[in-house]
Amino acid sequence: MRLYLSLLLVFSLHGQAPPKSLNPKVEKIVSSVSTERIAATLQRLEAFGTRNIFSSHEHPTRGVGAAYRWIADSMKAYSPRLQVTLDEHQLKQSGRVFRDVKIVNVVAVLPGTTQKDRHVIISGHYDSLHIVRKKVGELERMDQEATVAADAPGVSDDGSGTAAVMELARVMSQYEFEKTIVFVAFAGEEYGLLGANEYAKRAKAEKTIIDAVLNNDIIGNDMAGNGRAANSSVRLFSEDPIDSPSRTLARYVKEVGERYVPSMNVNAVFRADRFGRGGDHTPFDRIGYPAVRFTTPSEFYANQHTGSDTFANASPAYAARVTQVNAAVAAALAWAPPAPDISTKTRSVTSNEEVEGPSLSRGKTGYDAFLKWKEVGDVTDLAGFSVVRRDSTAPFWEKEQWVGIGKEFRLVDVSIDDIVLGVKAVDKEGNESPVSVYRIVPRKLP
Ligand SMILES: [Zn+2]
Repeated sequence: MRLYLSLLLVFSLHGQAPPKSLNPKVEKIVSSVSTERIAATLQRLEAFGTRNIFSSHEHPTRGVGAAYRWIADSMKAYSPRLQVTLDEHQLKQSGRVFRDVKIVNVVAVLPGTTQKDRHVIISGHYDSLHIVRKKVGELERMDQEATVAADAPGVSDDGSGTAAVMELARVMSQYEFEKTIVFVAFAGEEYGLLGANEYAKRAKAEKTIIDAVLNNDIIGNDMAGNGRAANSSVRLFSEDPIDSPSRTLARYVKEVGERYVPSMNVNAVFRADRFGRGGDHTPFDRIGYPAVRFTTPSEFYANQHTGSDTFANASPAYAARVTQVNAAVAAALAWAPPAPDISTKTRSVTSNEEVEGPSLSRGKTGYDAFLKWKEVGDVTDLAGFSVVRRDSTAPFWEKEQWVGIGKEFRLVDVSIDDIVLGVKAVDKEGNESPVSVYRIVPRKLP
């Protein structure tokens, strides 16, 4: 009897899956997002006249300088724990950058506790663009100086992403997270993803660990120019291939986002971005960081990059709902354990070369799926691990098997060649890491 009881105790401590119920702290953060504050931020951003990167850095009320100073000062006021800096870069004339220019990202860091080396980035771009055209012979060209001088309200593109970043900095800085969260208002998106590119390059050079880039660009309107409205869904773009870090993050965003914001459908689009368009998630994705883009399904093309991308044509309530999805995902991820380490090195029998790949085999029988993994970091509130699987052609994870505390799992008589397998770590509050996917590493061809 005593043995039975102690077994039961061991089972309940280590064997039982953490509840799939909602983490009340994440729920609280989601419900703290304020439509009124987002509306006020959109109006304030419009009031700078233009936030074009070539506009004035010195003018007290108009232009890019007044805008980035206001964004930084606002975020400083949210919490003394937010470390706010102006991240400046001097860029030389090149391509779309028609003269030398200084660009300034506004960066607010909320330092983590037990996993402070891991970063969750929430971003939008605060620069704006109103393209003024001129005739050059037969051709229409952008009139650079007239473009810089014009009013460029940029409320949906991308005052809305900036408002999301600022609102999340305000709400989330009232909490402590295990991972470090970075709230970034990027500059120079409209002239070629300039600020994000500089940031991503530096992150790579400094070997910064980034668990997610949640980029928000054009989340401020819910009515398309043809009258189509889709205000209970948001598009989430992620670059190929099918199990890339960005795609894996997209699956996480959909699952966690819809769990906490059931009114929103996260419509995962398995593409880097829209046709002929780009965003600040892309420089991160190219380097290998997991990075996705939120954007409205109801773009109003006639307002974009014009003087009519105004507050009057925006929907703060829609922007707030997308901000809530971000809040859920960022909070759950910043409290979650790191994803398990599934890499291993084996020596090729034929070539004697050492090859790195996933720790997945057919086991002793030759016909099982045998998964191994290692816990990453020293996670005190770890509940255990869950193995997930799906058909190789299925978009999202289909089955989940709770393992508990362990380092391996066997699926008897299951072919590793026909399905995709992954494993994730879960803590006692139910916060889940992203999935580590057992991917085939392409072989080098002779
Ligand atoms: Zn944009």
